[in-house]
Amino acid sequence: MSRRIYHIQKALPELVELEALIEEGRDVMRISAPAHVSHAGEKLPIYSIEMGSRATIAPTLALIGGVHGVERIGTQIILAFLRSLLHRLEWDEQLQQQLQRLRLLFIPLVNPSGMWNNSRCTATGVDLMRNAPVEAEHRPPLLVGGQRISAALPWYRGKKGQAMEPENLALTSVIEQTLFTQPLCISLDCHSGFGYRDRIWFPYAKSLLPWQGLPEAYSLTHLFEHSYPNHGLYLFEPQAHSYTTSGDVWDYLYDGYQSQNPNGIFLPLTLEMGSWTWVKKNPQQLFRFHSLFNPILPHRHQRILRRHSTLFDFLMAALANQSAWVPDNQQHRQQLNARAQERWYPDIARENSLLTT
Ligand SMILES: [Zn+2]
Repeated sequence: MSRRIYHIQKALPELVELEALIEEGRDVMRISAPAHVSHAGEKLPIYSIEMGSRATIAPTLALIGGVHGVERIGTQIILAFLRSLLHRLEWDEQLQQQLQRLRLLFIPLVNPSGMWNNSRCTATGVDLMRNAPVEAEHRPPLLVGGQRISAALPWYRGKKGQAMEPENLALTSVIEQTLFTQPLCISLDCHSGFGYRDRIWFPYAKSLLPWQGLPEAYSLTHLFEHSYPNHGLYLFEPQAHSYTTSGDVWDYLYDGYQSQNPNGIFLPLTLEMGSWTWVKKNPQQLFRFHSLFNPILPHRHQRILRRHSTLFDFLMAALANQSAWVPDNQQHRQQLNARAQERWYPDIARENSLLTT
């Protein structure tokens, strides 16, 4: 083992595992490192991995993890999925054919200095999910909605008017290059630490009002719930139902995509794994900060690593079979929008029905 690997292994085994996977999958992966972060005497790469179709119009799934360094489980579930994908590609002809039509993008570890420090923010104290140039439309909750008071407090946005942090510049440049030309793409950014349920959030974080991608979000939600009626794992909802924030990178990227590609479909989803159950079942976890965000007991850790592979497979299948859920005309979109409003914005749906009757 080289001195570098030995040094990194202790603080950041996820990076060592990712590099081993890159070595293993070199023949089927297109690998780049859009940025390096200097930390603890090391230059830590932020890797981006592409697999599958090179066609610019191929539907694309992007899996993102480790934006909040302490939420290591997000990175780990992506690495587990990537490993299984590589091993299945050795023999699974259906998967090989599926990847001829789909593009996959992985950025499994966006914030290596934060993960090294077991901290939510970067080593410079910035919360990457509050750092984009986006302002909440309604007054966001104090602190958690993003603050510019001090890097010593959580949810620090960085200084006003400054460019985004290098980690976010790397993330956004890869997403812009890879997804902004695509007519259909889904990203899933994997987090943990909020609530008892696993949530799938869609935009906006900045606004309490319905998002324009609501019909497609509803249709995809319905397809999942219809296809896996006994799964019952996820609570699909707009992020703003939990809390609104300023500086959300996916709000920023969605608006950028939409302005370049007004007829395209981009669903930026966030998986927020509900870690409070893990703590409730094992109250000792309360005494270690990083264990509030990560399953500690081995059986639970194993279970979480496999728990979300159904979702990843589903998203790939949904992208490969868009006629099953993407509305193909305006009337269909409006119907889906009405159902989505009944489900997630019942007050607005009621007002609309009063206006039309
Ligand atoms: Zn997070």
